[in-house]
Amino acid sequence: MLTKMIEQIERMVLRMEPHRSVRFLNVSPPWAIDALQRARFRRTLRLAAERSSFYREQFRKRGIDVRRIEHPSQLGDFYTTGEDLRQHSAEAFLTGRADTAFETTGTTSPIPKRVFFSQRELSEMGRTSAIGLYHLGIRAHDRVLSAYDCSFWVSPAVLRMAVQFLDCFHVEAGKIPPHEFYERARAYKPNVIFGEPSWLVRLSELARERGTWPVKLLFGGGENITEEARHIVESVWNAPLYLSYGQTESFGTLGAECERQDGYHRNDLFFFFETPETDVEGYGELVYTTLVRDVMPLIRYRSTDLTRLVDEPCECGLFAKRIAKIQARTDEMAVCGMGNVGPWVFEEVLRNVNGHGADWQAVIKHDGKRDVVELHIELDHSNHQPDIERAVLDNLRAGFADFWKNYEMKLYEFRVVPCEPGSLRNGRKLKRVLDQRQMALPRVV
Ligand SMILES: [Zn+2]
Repeated sequence: MLTKMIEQIERMVLRMEPHRSVRFLNVSPPWAIDALQRARFRRTLRLAAERSSFYREQFRKRGIDVRRIEHPSQLGDFYTTGEDLRQHSAEAFLTGRADTAFETTGTTSPIPKRVFFSQRELSEMGRTSAIGLYHLGIRAHDRVLSAYDCSFWVSPAVLRMAVQFLDCFHVEAGKIPPHEFYERARAYKPNVIFGEPSWLVRLSELARERGTWPVKLLFGGGENITEEARHIVESVWNAPLYLSYGQTESFGTLGAECERQDGYHRNDLFFFFETPETDVEGYGELVYTTLVRDVMPLIRYRSTDLTRLVDEPCECGLFAKRIAKIQARTDEMAVCGMGNVGPWVFEEVLRNVNGHGADWQAVIKHDGKRDVVELHIELDHSNHQPDIERAVLDNLRAGFADFWKNYEMKLYEFRVVPCEPGSLRNGRKLKRVLDQRQMALPRVV
């Protein structure tokens, strides 16, 4: 009864003008959010157990009676993984009629993960994103230009919905080369620019050479950024660059930065966040359960991102608690200027290049401006390094249109680094993708 009432109030609050929503949510008692989360968790769990063949089968096999589960931690070692989505196909997770779908590419396998949603879910995600963007200062008179990639990616769809609620001018350029964007953007006088962080860095380098225009803020999604690269973007435009954190599986944003740029304010109304196993500093893999999805709910989905839940209040005063800046990934995938890359990507670009099956390792670095992907390959002296590099780039162009497009847009450097045979593997297992970028850790809270 009480939960129903809170839920109705919440629905009303999310439908208010963004400035009223922020004010209202800021004074909501924490117990109300807790009660709402628990009720929504129970409902989601029952829905999944009744209608999704994947969850029904998993719970049956493990002897889990969902009627007795009140909190995600009571599910013990049960989790949903990206591998489950690929192996069982998205249809096994469906609990309702889908209106749309998006994909997440790269990851650890060439098979994309597909995730289904309804228009209602899209609309609700748009409303909460609008509240977050309002909090960052975006208003109806602002002019938004987005360079988000519209191909199967969830973020432009959510942004489109959010700007509708904010009622501001919005043009979608798509992920076109930064120099083309630069030339065409000026006609619209955008004072808010959305794009992937590595793309924004390249755009900013161009703008430094050719001149800027007044910009209120820039917003990046889809990958992490070093504080050094953020500083380049901010100093060129003399405006802040804010980042969001999310996944296609979560339907976009799980959290977004505020003006403090000190972790991501998380959406506890729509997700139940956990870090079940943490180190002494509190860092562990982020696991989330969706709370308001009825087409393809996910129970305890393993994000593969290492972070910390920050429950202390933020200096900005917003009610929402935070997720600390992502420290690393738990799998061997890297999200960088090249795109979402895992070992299989490099296996493909090396196909018929190092035919003798020599060892290799991809090392992701950052040179202060952009990401550098170094492919270390063990070569004997008879191999000619420029020939190898040419063959690798030919494979990249032929097999990975998106990665090639990013290469041509200079969003990353790509180098082949020859190594002595036998020099790479000094342990039992060779880590194929080594991310050496120093992502700035959050300031102490
Ligand atoms: Zn804050």
